[in-house]
Amino acid sequence: MHGDRLLLGPGPSVPYPEALEALTRPVLGHLDPEYLGVISEIGDRLRAVFRTANALTLPVSGTGSAGMEACLVSLLEPGATIIVGVNGYFGERLCEVARRGGAEVVRVEAPWGSPLDPADLLAAQRANPQAALLAVVAAETSTGVCNDVAPLGPELAGTDTLLLVDAVTALGGTPLEVDEWQIDACYSAAQKCLGAPPGLAPVTLSPRAMARMRARRTPIRSFYLDLGLLHDYFLASPPTYHHTASSTLAYALHAGLGRLLEEGVEQVWERHARIGALLQGALPELGFGLVAPKGARLPQLTTTTLPEGLDEEVLRKRLLGEFGIEVGGGLGAFAGRAWRIGLMGHAATERSVVTLLGAVRQLLG
Ligand code: PLP
Repeated sequence: MHGDRLLLGPGPSVPYPEALEALTRPVLGHLDPEYLGVISEIGDRLRAVFRTANALTLPVSGTGSAGMEACLVSLLEPGATIIVGVNGYFGERLCEVARRGGAEVVRVEAPWGSPLDPADLLAAQRANPQAALLAVVAAETSTGVCNDVAPLGPELAGTDTLLLVDAVTALGGTPLEVDEWQIDACYSAAQKCLGAPPGLAPVTLSPRAMARMRARRTPIRSFYLDLGLLHDYFLASPPTYHHTASSTLAYALHAGLGRLLEEGVEQVWERHARIGALLQGALPELGFGLVAPKGARLPQLTTTTLPEGLDEEVLRKRLLGEFGIEVGGGLGAFAGRAWRIGLMGHAATERSVVTLLGAVRQLLG
């Protein structure tokens, strides 16, 4: 039995047809010149979407978490300090991964459902000028909150603290400017707004971050997620074998990015904004509440509380069982009383919104 799903949860999203079609191409060896050509083109396409000229821009094998771990393990040495903005599940995960890597974690918090204050993050850096990294989740998928990362880079540029941004849900959905905002390290995932299936994590490092990685006193603790070794595999000439990377997933990401760039990066942001607003305008009419405050509300991920008296889990399961529509359950403080609705990539369409609202209306009777 094959699940025919409309994926409107926090990810994966419905891939672009071009990305699915690409999955059927013949498998290539991981050092085949054709495969390395695809990787090179993915690098170019990712630079266009990340809005960067960074040489080290590549897809790490693995999901978004592999991108997170690759950046943290490659840029942190044991005992180093990292400042982490925490206002949701993925900020917490950054803390946990850094802690497991032997780093000292300084938490800067905001309540789940509220954005982080950039001034708080910068104050923490002034109090901890030795911090190697300051890390923020641009689009907190657990709450639907957009954290403003734009003011951070210019303030950190003259310090020893590099800026790391989690763009797993942000990239290709909402504005993100790696070079203009002076972001040193940024990672994402194929399966959200980039419209490809899960399995690859785009990563980009600034020259400053590259220099920091090259100047480490201790070896990177992970072999598999060592961004220096991945650089030598994908970007050096001749390429050095590192692992058997999947040409199948590369083809799919290449195709998803191609479709995105054909539409245009700014046009894609605009589409997500318009479709997210359509949903967020309609939900209150059905008695649903919007968790993220206006001004910090992501269009590609909406956390919405259900009308009083409704069992979110029962309704969510019926949506899947009766209509084949997936939405996510709430996390943390919102568990059991909210849904997370994703409108990402190929699923960020009026058709998705109309279909979802029609199904919900029918279920509410
Ligand atoms: N960071 C954010 C903001 C996410 O939304 C996710 C996944 O939803 C991750 C990291 C982890 O990515 P993955 O589940 O692809 O490993």
